[in-house]
Amino acid sequence: TDACLQAIEDAGALNAFVHGTPDMARDMAKAADQRIKSGDATAMTGIPLGIKDLFCVRGVPTQAASGILRGFRPEYESTVTHNLWDAGAVMLGKLNMDEFAMGSSNESSTYGPAVNPWQGRDGAKLTAGGSSGGSASAVAADLCLAATGTDTGGSIRQPAALTGIVGLKPTYGRVSRWGVIAYASSLDQAGPMTKSVRDAAIMLGAMASVDEKDSTSANIPVPDFEAAITGDIRGQKIGIPREYRMEGMPADIDALWRQGAEMLRDAGAEIVDISLPHTKYALPAYYVIAPAEASSNLARYDGVRYGHRAKLGQGDGIVDMYEKTRAEGFGPEVQRRVMIGTYVLSAGFYDAYYNRARKVRALIKRDFDQAFADGVDAILAPATPSAAFPLGSAKDGDPVAMYLNDVFTVTLNLAGLPGIAVPVGQDADGLPLGLQMIGRPFEEGALLNQASVLE
Ligand code: GLN
Repeated sequence: TDACLQAIEDAGALNAFVHGTPDMARDMAKAADQRIKSGDATAMTGIPLGIKDLFCVRGVPTQAASGILRGFRPEYESTVTHNLWDAGAVMLGKLNMDEFAMGSSNESSTYGPAVNPWQGRDGAKLTAGGSSGGSASAVAADLCLAATGTDTGGSIRQPAALTGIVGLKPTYGRVSRWGVIAYASSLDQAGPMTKSVRDAAIMLGAMASVDEKDSTSANIPVPDFEAAITGDIRGQKIGIPREYRMEGMPADIDALWRQGAEMLRDAGAEIVDISLPHTKYALPAYYVIAPAEASSNLARYDGVRYGHRAKLGQGDGIVDMYEKTRAEGFGPEVQRRVMIGTYVLSAGFYDAYYNRARKVRALIKRDFDQAFADGVDAILAPATPSAAFPLGSAKDGDPVAMYLNDVFTVTLNLAGLPGIAVPVGQDADGLPLGLQMIGRPFEEGALLNQASVLE
């Protein structure tokens, strides 16, 4: 814990931690020490963690990297962090992220971007990905042993891939969403971001629980994920979805994908070509459904209950307060999403956009169901369409270009499936590249085992 606290201080330029909790960390580390001595430790006891700013931690500033939650200190603890502290983990502080988890480069944060510890050509500053960019940067730079992330459309897997670490998005319902500030509730899922597949298994075991406080928490027992990692995948069928072979895909990503398939084949798996025919509709469906849910979830930030309230002038009424508070508190990307969401849910356009996107979502899920019904045990795909890109790309004024980053990741959120990003190779400049494995629902153990072959 002391080494991490020192490393955090030395690595201020990465802007990964946005609020340190050193006193809490030292107290928790002492308690963990006691617990280890008394022989009642878990594998997480004494492990110093960073927590994404989306998780409510009692008494600790929690802002979802938004100006609208300035000064908010929750009076309650998210189930995930509660479970982690219960297992003896140590809280180092809150981690940077895109505002309300909306973004793929951590550039929509009120704290400014998190920086990737890997540098580009001529020392160019690169994105650590988003929205869990702070988590990825902190784990990759050894500021903490692991971190929590959340993944609505790729926010665990994409930053993990761009920083060369492991990121697991569990099956929807495996990890409680209680106390995690909502972005798009039918897609959001918290998961571990770690240095190895084994660490991910251990940390997922500590994060997951059946939670009556979250009505979408699945009533399925949490198995020993670590015990599932045997490295034996002989006879398993791994699907390569042909629709993920996108036009204009960079040669390094294509080569990496082949290399990953080769590694699985060498370990005794059978590689099969599969089709997920509705893949090309996933991004447009996601960028209707996610903003729709966000516009509804973010309606609660009105200047009355939480955080920031705008200064009001003479004669300003309650509507002025809402409008001024929201205009000041939300950044441009969040405002854009709220507007898109409100539009697609409005009476005149509901059927044309939201309802159609819901139907597409069902078809995407059916594609996966079919592949698994045909006997595929897991699916191998790229995690990102490129290596880490330079910071500043978000300012180019083309939000759609940023949305295209999520082309390989949003599909499984729409289907509720687990997915893991594992660092497998490098691009021509030596930057890390990751592959993604997609598993059957609630079979994270099998998925972690398959992924361990790629390490
Ligand atoms: N980049 C995607 C978005 O901006 C995914 C974000 C996430 O998974 N939280 O919506």
